[in-house]
Amino acid sequence: MSLPVKTQTCADCGTVNCNVTTLTYPPFCLTEAEDRAEIEEVNRIYREDPLVSKISCSAAEIEGVYYGRLTRVEEVAAFARRIGAKKIGVATCVGLINEAKRFVKFLDAQGIESYTVACKVGAVDKTELGVPEEHKIKKGNHESACNPILQARILARNKTDLNVIIGLCVGHDSMFIKYSQAPVTYLVVKDRVLAHNPVGALYTDNSYYKRLTEDQNL
Ligand code: SF4
Repeated sequence: MSLPVKTQTCADCGTVNCNVTTLTYPPFCLTEAEDRAEIEEVNRIYREDPLVSKISCSAAEIEGVYYGRLTRVEEVAAFARRIGAKKIGVATCVGLINEAKRFVKFLDAQGIESYTVACKVGAVDKTELGVPEEHKIKKGNHESACNPILQARILARNKTDLNVIIGLCVGHDSMFIKYSQAPVTYLVVKDRVLAHNPVGALYTDNSYYKRLTEDQNL
């Protein structure tokens, strides 16, 4: 399959000089092409929007101060504390409910209040939402739909200040992020094949997962 002529982007960059500024920018560089006025306009958002400023500075502090020392689990608590989040919403997949329980135990130990809601909340059959029966895992049976909008609403009702995703499905997570009232961060990215380590496929795309770079229409 021949691809249309591709615009060069950061994915084609050999220097990533925006990170260091001591090398050279490629001719198509997005940093160099960017309108300085827009960069300054965005900078103002980071500086002047109180929530964005708090999130941005807290994220940078955790990166800078704890670089390579805290696990993601710990980083979430450190981040929550720095943005002043009193209550963490946990939006979990039912398949990771045990891991969610362990995370809540960790939050308890940190003295951070939490509220957990599982993806199947509402117990609505998939067909009620327009999903065809043949797209169920076990056809002919009740199969509860993931309900990320309801998860987001329940967390909003419970006034969570920061919501944490534990393994929501691809797409269900998109809806949760869209409907969440509180800022969202990830703890676990679901990958049913790679034990929730999706980057494993990319690390091995020249060997075990060579199919990733071969012509296929998923
Ligand atoms: S912004 Fe420029 S230097 Fe940075 S990765 Fe993109 S192309 Fe490379």
